[in-house]
Amino acid sequence: MTEPVVLISALEHFVYCERQCALIHGDGVWMDNAHTVRGSHAHRRVDSGLHRRERGVLTLRSIPLWSETLGLSGRADTVEFNEGAVYPVEHKSGVRHGKAADLQVCAQAMCLEEMMHVDIPVAYVWYGGPRRRAKVLLDHQLRTDVIETVESVRAQLLSGELPAAPNDARCEECQLEPHCLPSATATATRIAALTSEALLL
Ligand code: SF4
Repeated sequence: MTEPVVLISALEHFVYCERQCALIHGDGVWMDNAHTVRGSHAHRRVDSGLHRRERGVLTLRSIPLWSETLGLSGRADTVEFNEGAVYPVEHKSGVRHGKAADLQVCAQAMCLEEMMHVDIPVAYVWYGGPRRRAKVLLDHQLRTDVIETVESVRAQLLSGELPAAPNDARCEECQLEPHCLPSATATATRIAALTSEALLL
């Protein structure tokens, strides 16, 4: 079987909720909610593809990325060229949520390194909530986390399995909640587990 190429965006979905990743990247489900609409609105400028040069920094927008080595593809919101350095800048409309954005921008940098034969030791994530840019050190641990997450997403896609719903606080913020029905599926999973236990007695 051909190994599926993993989309960089799948890493963020997988880290947020493995079931969300399977629904979006395995089953092709997509729904918008207030968070995704706000994100799309905030992305209009980076999605425009218009490039600019300002104070010596060349900024390219909406750049396609891929890595043959990792079996990964996607798109960088922006890539900056600044005094001989090149690095991606990921744009988020809200505030930092764990390490998901760090993984995403590290994956983008690893693709750029392979495509351009450069070393990229740092990248950045711009958060629209505080309107601040956070520096992300692309160290060995973060790169290892990217590789392991790509492998986990690929294994999930190959298995075709849909993980059980965690049915926790994440579901309140999730755009797929109306499709996923986490409380109903979590109950069904619990009943199935109890039934299996009873049959083994
Ligand atoms: S509603 Fe909850 S369980 Fe379902 S995909 Fe979203 S976060 Fe995951």
